Amino acid sequence: MSFKEIIYFLDKIGKIIDLSEKELELLKKPQKILQAEIEVSGKKYPAYRVQYNNSRGPFKGGIRFHPEVDLEEVQSLAFWMSLKTAIADISFGGGKGGIRVDPKQLSEKELEELSRKWVRAFYKEIGPTKDIPAPDVYTTPQIMAWMLDEYENIIGEKAPGMITGKPLALGGSLVRDIATALGGVYVLEEAMKKINLTERTAAIQGFGNAGMNMAKLLAEKGYKIVAVSDSRGGIYVQEGLNLSEVIKAKEEKGSVIDYNLAKKISNEELLTVDCAVLVPAALSGVITAKNAGKIKARIVLELANGPTTPEADEILHKNKILVLPDVLANSGGVTVSYFEWVQNNYGYYWDEHTVKSRLKEKMVSAFDKIWKEYAPSNYDFRTNTYILAVKKILEAERLRGRV
Ligand code: NAD
Repeated sequence: MSFKEIIYFLDKIGKIIDLSEKELELLKKPQKILQAEIEVSGKKYPAYRVQYNNSRGPFKGGIRFHPEVDLEEVQSLAFWMSLKTAIADISFGGGKGGIRVDPKQLSEKELEELSRKWVRAFYKEIGPTKDIPAPDVYTTPQIMAWMLDEYENIIGEKAPGMITGKPLALGGSLVRDIATALGGVYVLEEAMKKINLTERTAAIQGFGNAGMNMAKLLAEKGYKIVAVSDSRGGIYVQEGLNLSEVIKAKEEKGSVIDYNLAKKISNEELLTVDCAVLVPAALSGVITAKNAGKIKARIVLELANGPTTPEADEILHKNKILVLPDVLANSGGVTVSYFEWVQNNYGYYWDEHTVKSRLKEKMVSAFDKIWKEYAPSNYDFRTNTYILAVKKILEAERLRGRV
């Protein structure tokens, strides 16, 4: 989502809940923008950290390594993190980082150097009580490990809570790897109960960490997964795919379309197949005014960040399709990141059951709070979600005397 769309949403919410100019101004600007240029093997890469809002706790958000990263994108993602942590009700603010680089073009040594230099560029402004990064697109637990090591070398002491998404051996949390999808399942199950939806069929766009884990978890719960896709295209079987065979094809041959016993469909077609639940779990901006009217699902669960355009949102709302927005639906990832940070601060680590049950508690509670506002209101679920998040941020701002 572009920053322009964020401004559009903020203005819309501002009118609904009567925000003052000062409040809107505060929400429309990040607190701090950090920029650097990182040199590896003679090439220079622009690097960023945007610290959007820390009224509710330290800045929190991932670091993205991608050739299209720019300041506007990092700023938008940092804003969404502020909403997400407020909705998840965890004591963090919002931030995001990135490097404009194609990590696939780097050797492992160069990738390590790049990661360590990102920390050297920004270490004064990050830390367990200031700003806590995490993985995002093309950044991994190994990269988090290098970053932690670099930070601890600079400050001369252990500080595992300076970053999350770490490998387990360095203080990571159990369940972190499936947390985004699992959080989405908890929210979905609550929503299905509320609208009395019993048909358990789903189509999932994207088959990476979020999408594949979602497919697995839903299949375990007895859902028929009728369609899945990745960057090369999609596959569809109305009676439900044989998921373990699809995963095998993806792992062995590189794509879900290498599974032969299904009809091939495009990523666009996947959005409009006959199913109860549609899960965009890949790119942003895929549900548009062009295709929203053709969507047959009753629920859209946004595991991807920003998959629905504002125009599409209005069409879905008119057609009585419940959209569970990204800042709620995929907040399981940051919630378990928060659990990781809590465990690091404690120096005491939880078992799998404890992490899962605490995640469920958080997700169900967040969903219920929004549902209570949404059910009697005239606005869609997303608008109600944003309103709740904005109110929580502004409450903290007011208590601090900043508005
Ligand atoms: P990933 O890189 O593991 O997987 C992405 C998947 O999308 C891959 O299967 C890829 O083939 C597919 N894809 C790429 N281009 C596509 C296209 N044009 N059409 C259809 N599929 C395409 O990434 P991920 O971690 O699963 O993240 C997916 C989305 O979920 C992103 O929007 C991300 O921001 C969001 N998200 C992920 C997490 C998390 O913890 N993984 C947390 C919050 C949000």
